Amino acid sequence: MEIPVHHLPPEGRDFEETWPHLTLEEKSGLRGLHTVHVAVVAHADRERLSLRGRVEGQVLLHCSRCLAEFEMGLTAAIDCTYALTHDYLEHDPDVERLVEGDRLDPQAEIVGELLAELPIQTLCRPDCQGLCPTCGTDLNQAPCHCPTAAGSPFEILKTLRTKRGEPPRQESPPGVDHGRSQA
Ligand SMILES: [Zn+2]
Ligand SMILES: [Zn+2]
Repeated sequence: MEIPVHHLPPEGRDFEETWPHLTLEEKSGLRGLHTVHVAVVAHADRERLSLRGRVEGQVLLHCSRCLAEFEMGLTAAIDCTYALTHDYLEHDPDVERLVEGDRLDPQAEIVGELLAELPIQTLCRPDCQGLCPTCGTDLNQAPCHCPTAAGSPFEILKTLRTKRGEPPRQESPPGVDHGRSQA
């Protein structure tokens, strides 16, 4: 999306665009965005340019419990102001940034508004059962036969220690015990 900074009519101008696919730097399970539809009205005077409107799109994510890839639809309001002069940039703390040159590409800020709507915990569904911590089975697909799957975290620790071949009950090597009893 390119907005001609110095050629907007006083009543503003509508801009609409669809971004079919955007790859993102992988961050907290985020895989990408697609079918992002943006509709904004741009207003500008000598000092600043404002964009108001809406963005909606599909986000590709990894579930934080079962790690499956899934999609989530997001919608956000756009309310961005850009400075066109250094003076305005210093005087308004809410501006996104200074626009130099005669065209603005607002994609970074619009994507930022959309991603700000992501929930803190991204789950493929609210009741996702996640993976069994012992055998890794996706518990949404089928239950597993691990005796500790539904137990406490301490039960799981015991299993891990047994798997490594250490007796679960022994707390320290005999040499250390010996030293401790002398002191
Ligand atoms: Zn899940
Ligand atoms: Zn299991």
